[in-house]
Amino acid sequence: MHYTSKAVYEYISKKNSDPIVKRKKCRISGQDFPIYQSDLDFYDKISPKFEVSSDYAKQFLEENSDVTQNFEYKDGKLKCKIPTPTLCPEERQRRRLAFRNERKLYKRTCDFSGKEIISIYSPDKPYKVYDQSIWWSDKWDTLEYGKDSIWNFSTIFGNLLKNIPRYNLKNDYTTMENSEYNNYSGQLKSSYFSFWCAASQDMYYAHISRENSDCCDIAICMQCADCWECVECIACRKCFSCEMCLGCNELYNCSYCTSCEECIWCSNLVNKKYCINNQQYTKEEYEKYKQQAKQNTQLSQQKNSILRNTFVLECENYAGYALNSCKNAFFCYDSAWLDTVKYSTSCGMMSNTMDNDHWTTGSDISYESLSWEWRFDIFSSNSENTSNTIYCDMCYNSNFCFGCVGLRNKEYCIFNKQYTKEEYNQLVPKLIAQMMRTQTSWTNPSFTSPFNKGDTPSWNSPLIKGDVPQSGTGGFDTTEKSEANKVPPCEGGYSSETREGGKQRWEFFDPQLSPFGYNETVAMEYYPLSKEEALKLWYKRSDYEAPFPKVEKFVQGKKLRTASCKTIYEQKPELLEKLLNYAVVCEVSGRPFRIIKQEIDFYIKHDLPLPRKHPDIRHQERMNKRPWRTLYLRNCDKCGEEMLSVYSSWKQISPNPSLSRGESTLNTEGSISLDKGRGREGFDTMQQKIYCEKCYQKEIYW
Ligand SMILES: [Zn+2]
Repeated sequence: MHYTSKAVYEYISKKNSDPIVKRKKCRISGQDFPIYQSDLDFYDKISPKFEVSSDYAKQFLEENSDVTQNFEYKDGKLKCKIPTPTLCPEERQRRRLAFRNERKLYKRTCDFSGKEIISIYSPDKPYKVYDQSIWWSDKWDTLEYGKDSIWNFSTIFGNLLKNIPRYNLKNDYTTMENSEYNNYSGQLKSSYFSFWCAASQDMYYAHISRENSDCCDIAICMQCADCWECVECIACRKCFSCEMCLGCNELYNCSYCTSCEECIWCSNLVNKKYCINNQQYTKEEYEKYKQQAKQNTQLSQQKNSILRNTFVLECENYAGYALNSCKNAFFCYDSAWLDTVKYSTSCGMMSNTMDNDHWTTGSDISYESLSWEWRFDIFSSNSENTSNTIYCDMCYNSNFCFGCVGLRNKEYCIFNKQYTKEEYNQLVPKLIAQMMRTQTSWTNPSFTSPFNKGDTPSWNSPLIKGDVPQSGTGGFDTTEKSEANKVPPCEGGYSSETREGGKQRWEFFDPQLSPFGYNETVAMEYYPLSKEEALKLWYKRSDYEAPFPKVEKFVQGKKLRTASCKTIYEQKPELLEKLLNYAVVCEVSGRPFRIIKQEIDFYIKHDLPLPRKHPDIRHQERMNKRPWRTLYLRNCDKCGEEMLSVYSSWKQISPNPSLSRGESTLNTEGSISLDKGRGREGFDTMQQKIYCEKCYQKEIYW
């Protein structure tokens, strides 16, 4: 994994006239990261304030004199200051993404109705899971689970997570039609295994895609039809194994083409027809090659193509990748309509926020969260239309809540218990004071990251033991702490206790509170870790293997016929019929998978061969075509100007040329292997030229 370099941080500081006011060392990665002046301004703005009397404030500050520098009483409000982070931006994002399972689906029973449901929670997990339709009904009440706030945070919140029913999937389920096996999606019709997708029909194995029809195996595609194995294509028709093409028709294995028709193995072309390998051919010649190209189904990166240093549309003042209509967006990726946003990914319509991922539509001033439509929310996940919430999960239409799970239309709740406004304003700062103590006592500048050292930390290492601060103040019973400190909950551990003895810092949720194993989450896609590494960083791990459905036969993927489905259908249609009762063993991972009827129909219609790889492997291979979410400083291969790019210069990637090609070495989990210099890190920029936007425009469009 690559972390942002000091040079990049400084380049952005200079470019943006945003001075670095402090340098910190990440407590996990050991990497240096800066605090910009704009960060400090933001932390000040996002720090929550609570209305209390001056008498109360005086007493509170006396009782919490050890952390009093983190509070400020002004104009009748007690401000609980958000401290500067203890983790570098990459580790902060890893931790947030570890709370989102997008695409690992399981069969289990609904704990309300007993019916079999599809769920993102495997049946071995200790959570109560309700079918979406029941979860959203009035058949149950979250306040039943309320707890007095006298205990340590992680224990009580962990218990709320375990006891309060969770929805099986997060779909806009009332808008879905004949589309059962999808997640984080809406308005899908007859679609299958599509995740974070919308407004599409007959779409199979899609990822972050909208407004498509008749597409299979696509990622980040919009307004496409009849496309297959495409990545980041917009408004394309009948494109196969293409990348980054715009408004094209009938392309095979092409990349970075605009408004082209009937081309094969081309890159960077504009308004061309009948081209092969960027050479012009006649229609007759083209037709001859076409059949050949159809047989070659491998996604192959165009070796001699020219890449933009990064890809953005209509942005000003930015640093990131795949941005559309953004301004003042730094360290942002895969997002649109951002205004003054930092360290965020996969977001849309968001302003004045930092450290948010996924679904933040219409959000303003929020910090370290994965939610949407909100204001002044901090450290939350899965919530919607909320304001002034702190540490909330799955809460909707609620304001001023702390440490709550599954609330709807509530105000002034703490750990799912109803309080008056006055009580709420007095109690929450006390809870925050406890976390601030944890934060302060755990900052150990001499600590060396176990991740970097590569050895297994013992449970007595400074990171784990820490000093349990004597509180005795604020009315919180902390007697549980010594007991909880003994528990090393790593191995498959779904314990409510955490390694820190229930000591949640005044920052995003502790990784142990995630309801998922690291290997089930989006974090694994962007920051892959082996089992050992994940456990070392105190992420959870899921080793659950769902029983494979009964099939007549297992067929080895590599033994599948290479002929197109259309040919098989014309010659021996019964073979395809039989295949529906078989499982195919993935030729890469060895994992069996099923092929559905609609998929076979798609392959027949488009004259394509049967898949030999597991859908997860196919997904990962498509994602591997994209660069990592890291920025590098390099020079334009045309004009030589220094620029930021998601593609590092060759020497930065790997000093070993034998590891140069970006072949994805996939392990059985479908994640890329951690061999340095491979996977997405191994973009071979020796053969691909990286141009600055100006040079790219000049070269391609002029
Ligand atoms: Zn240039």
